Amino acid sequence: MGKYLVISEVRDGELRNVSFENIAAARQIDENSEVVAAVLGDGDLESLGQELIQYGADRAVVVQHENLKNYTSDGYVQAAMAVIEQEDPDGIVMGHTSEGKDLSPRIASKLDSGLISDVTEIEGSGDDVKFIRPIYSGKAFEKKVITNGKTFITIRPNNIAPLEKDESRSGDVQKVEVDVQNLRTVIKEVIRKASEGVDLSEANIIVAGGRGVKSAEGFDPLYELADVLGGAVGASRGAADAGYCDYSLQIGQTGKVVTPDLYIAVGISGAIQHLAGMSNSKVIVAINKDPEANIFNVADYGIVGDLFDVVPALTEEIKALKG
Ligand code: FAD
Repeated sequence: MGKYLVISEVRDGELRNVSFENIAAARQIDENSEVVAAVLGDGDLESLGQELIQYGADRAVVVQHENLKNYTSDGYVQAAMAVIEQEDPDGIVMGHTSEGKDLSPRIASKLDSGLISDVTEIEGSGDDVKFIRPIYSGKAFEKKVITNGKTFITIRPNNIAPLEKDESRSGDVQKVEVDVQNLRTVIKEVIRKASEGVDLSEANIIVAGGRGVKSAEGFDPLYELADVLGGAVGASRGAADAGYCDYSLQIGQTGKVVTPDLYIAVGISGAIQHLAGMSNSKVIVAINKDPEANIFNVADYGIVGDLFDVVPALTEEIKALKG
């Protein structure tokens, strides 16, 4: 029986969804393995450890230290390496998030291990497990197998469904003492951009606007649609470059990579660099006045029309359906 270590992510004192998805991934890689969830941070981590157990981990280890209050490469590497040394896992699973993308290669180099990053699907399990990941900006997929060494992977958020929460599950939550010191970066204050509700990278529904929205105010109908759908607003680089929205909304090769259940592309032409960030979405709806726009080649449903007519009509229709 092997052992998998899942390194979770905490934001504002709460576990991010990707932490639960990683547990499901570890279970799928080898259903007979022990799955140990690690929580690194400050504050009450023990209750988070219990929550990870309810989502399918067998037990949890927590490293609590004031120098782990905010993510820093130095601090988190020290904490993660202490847990890895204690647990000596056969595999490590992390999210392919900003944190995971920074932390995983640092750990891999310290362990002298390989790393399969940005996995979107796991095929098979046990000795036959294969990891599928997009390449060439999502134009093709490759299947990878690990022939020796640790199974070290990062999983793209929103691709692997978490296991159902079972509140009757309980397990051991162990504190690991690590003296996290010598940080080369000290975070004095975190100033978050005022965000409009749902976190883009974890949203199940995204309404994204492109240069076709024509102005910052042009995004208003998109916010209204996202609001009735309970989704988040994203954008193309065209829209961000034109100053219609903040760069934090940008989706694509040089922006965020998202995999929502529903992606509504509004006034976006469908450049390859944009598709790289969203083409894995489960259902894609495109709204564009140009019937030849490339976005229709990846869309499941297309609406040819003026977005300023179509988007408000959709919002009204959804409001009416919701009663
Ligand atoms: P456009 O291509 O100008 O498309 C606007 C669309 O709106 C058109 O299809 C038009 O028909 C439609 N439209 C106009 N008015 C209306 C209306 N009233 N109703 C309905 N439809 C309307 N792009 C990204 O998005 N993300 C990235 O991460 C990214 N990274 C890049 C990295 C590099 C190295 C490079 C070179 C480029 C990158 N780009 C990226 C830019 C990319 O190539 C495109 O320029 C950009 O995606 C275009 O944005 P757009 O679709 O909003 O604008």
